[in-house]
Amino acid sequence: MIIVFKPHTPEEKINEVSNMIVQLGYEPRVIRGVEHTVIGAVGDEKIHRSLEIFKSFPCVEDVIPIQKRYKLASREYHEADSIVMIGSEKIGAGNFQVIAGPCAIESREQLRQVTKDVKTSGVKILRGGAFKPRTSPYDFQGLGEEGLKLLKEVKEEFNIPVVTEVLGVTHVKQVAEVADCLQIGARNCQNYHLLEHVANAGRPVLLKRGMATTVEEWLSAAEYLVVHGCPNVILCERGIRTFETATRSTLDLGAVAVAKKETHLPVIVDPSHAAGKVDLVLPLARAAVAVGADGIIVETHPDPVNASSDAAQQIPSAKFADFMGALKPIIDAMKKK
Ligand code: PEP
Ligand code: MN
Repeated sequence: MIIVFKPHTPEEKINEVSNMIVQLGYEPRVIRGVEHTVIGAVGDEKIHRSLEIFKSFPCVEDVIPIQKRYKLASREYHEADSIVMIGSEKIGAGNFQVIAGPCAIESREQLRQVTKDVKTSGVKILRGGAFKPRTSPYDFQGLGEEGLKLLKEVKEEFNIPVVTEVLGVTHVKQVAEVADCLQIGARNCQNYHLLEHVANAGRPVLLKRGMATTVEEWLSAAEYLVVHGCPNVILCERGIRTFETATRSTLDLGAVAVAKKETHLPVIVDPSHAAGKVDLVLPLARAAVAVGADGIIVETHPDPVNASSDAAQQIPSAKFADFMGALKPIIDAMKKK
């Protein structure tokens, strides 16, 4: 931490703060400028008390943290790209995956058809929501346990690993019995109690960025998972809230570039929830590959017009092979497997 004093702070005030820094377990290094004096407090903030208290001192202008709030997730801690396995499929360190499937599991026929279509298009990981976080309580909430049963059935029939969302602590065990990867949705990115429980489920976790979380908050959420016993975390940018209304959310590709620099964990993109409209999904997906994402997660449905949720953004599954074909030149150009 750096403690910056207001201009012309008297020497006795600086000494007072300096002595308190020692008492809190840090070593103070005083640097005197022409107007400002600053103290660099050397020590590990994770094992000592926070120095934020100095923000309330009238003589202090600012207290600036130097250490990152995440450690295990950072590249400083682990330089090389990590690979996360979903079933027997690799994501990260040059391994690119397209995860595809419906927004929500609606019926056996729907899930079988979409799985057949995405599998023949070359997709190796299936997505599909059984428990759906919907903005309105009057909207379709997902088939719940029945959806999980269908997911298990189809996963076994087609021999494909599956990603599905876990909405609450009470579902973690049940969802983890079926899912090869547990999805934490945007709305739960900062639900730390849920993150702790999910970290204990023994499955990899796909962590969506919240609609209003900074990159630091998103990576700190990943840190919760890692520190509580789940090293296999995949980060997913899915668009954030801005003033723009032309897209459902604003896809923050800059955040993907930053996250790739800051963390060794794989970073993927969800172009479907960012776009909100089917014709925008491909250009956003191509941009995601080009910015360096390790994969994408895309919504597709056999009959989007009649989908129970997110109808406007789902790619018709009969056309999924075309989507994959249009993505391939970018994946090749980025030299991903
Ligand atoms: C989803 O992927 O099904 C979903 C609800 O996405 P998000 O949490 O990003 O809104
Ligand atoms: Mn959806």
